[in-house]
Order: sequence, then C-alpha cells, then structure tokens
Amino acid sequence: MPPKERNIAMMGYRSVGKSSLSIQFVEGQFVDSYDPTIENTFTKVTRVNSQDYSVKLIDTAGQDEYSIFPVQYSMDFHGYVLVYSITSKKSFEVIQIIYEKLLDVMGKKYVPVVLVGNKTDLHQERTVSTEEGKKLAESWRAAFLETSAKQNESVGDIFHQLLILIENENGNPQEK
Ligand code: GDP
Ligand code: MG
Repeated sequence: MPPKERNIAMMGYRSVGKSSLSIQFVEGQFVDSYDPTIENTFTKVTRVNSQDYSVKLIDTAGQDEYSIFPVQYSMDFHGYVLVYSITSKKSFEVIQIIYEKLLDVMGKKYVPVVLVGNKTDLHQERTVSTEEGKKLAESWRAAFLETSAKQNESVGDIFHQLLILIENENGNPQEK
C-alpha cells in the first residue's frame, strides 16, 4: 500500500520545544540551539498499524496570546500538535488560546489534536501538573502526553497517537 500523506502542524508559545520535538522525531537527535524564528517543513515516513504514513510536519515559529491565527495553518492540515512546557504556566495559558482560535478559524467543534507537555526532564522546575494537562486534554477530547525532546521520551508517541486520531476521524466522522 502506498503511504498515506498526512500534514501536521506544531503549534505553541515560543521556546516550548516545538523545533526540538520535530527534529528529535525526524532526525533522532536533540539540537540545543535552533533559530526560534525559523519555520521549517520536515517529512518522515512512519508506520502505524501496518500502514505507512508520509508525514509532512510544519514546525511553526510559534504563537502568543495576541497572534491572529495564521490562516495558512487552518487549511490542508489533518491534525495538530499543541505544545506547552511543563516549566511555563504562561505557555499553558497560551496553548488554550491557540486551541480556541484554531477551532474558531476552522469552524469546527472537533479537530484531531495531541496536547503535549514538554521538558519533563526539568522536573525540578515544573509549574504545570500532569493532572492539569490531562484535564485540559479531556475537555478537548484530545490525546495527552508529557515528553522530553532532550531525552527522547515519548516523542514518537505524539505522532503515532495523532495519526490514529486522524484515522479514526476519517473513519467515523458521525461520532464527532
Ligand atoms: P520552540 O521555540 O518551541 O521551537 O523551542 P525550541 O525547540 O527551539 O527549544 C527552546 C529551548 O528549550 C532550547 O534551548 C531547547 O534546547 C530547549 N528544550 C527543548 N526541548 C527540551 C526538553 O525536552 N528538555 C530541556 N531540558 N530543554 C528543552
Ligand atoms: Mg522553533
């Protein structure tokens, strides 16, 4: 079977690790300093449940509470990775604003999303609890994961879970 093409966008406040997670997933390495203003596109073929997917990953330069949701990210995307840092309350607040704008721009009540709390290796600096993240994701009917791009913890799971959510949505649109 040919790979299915899936377009995924990484969104979130600045410095939460969007680029680090993207590069860890695509290249299998942690890059310590990456230009925060760069917007990049990566592709990677990955297999889930014996199906190959060609993932086109857009690593956005980031959003804040004042950003107008970029319209180009509302078209032709199958799913979204919304990232905050467990060390930043601010990034957790901003991700909720980004999510609301996303639904608003798309005119939908449901969009396939994985909510990601990154930087679990910095547990001494944690300011957002696992419980808070989990509750937020439940309210969105999104998947939830805590990750460390630095230690390559649960990074592949983000994309696998999102591909499954996208697949389910396509299969059972009436349930959403
Ligand atoms: P972006 O602005 O969201 O793309 O964030 P970056 O990926 O550029 O990361 C911002 C900073 O956080 C960089 O200094 C990264 O090295 C660091 N960083 C990213 N992910 C992690 C992580 O999981 N653990 C730790 N300790 N640092 C991280
Ligand atoms: Mg970046």
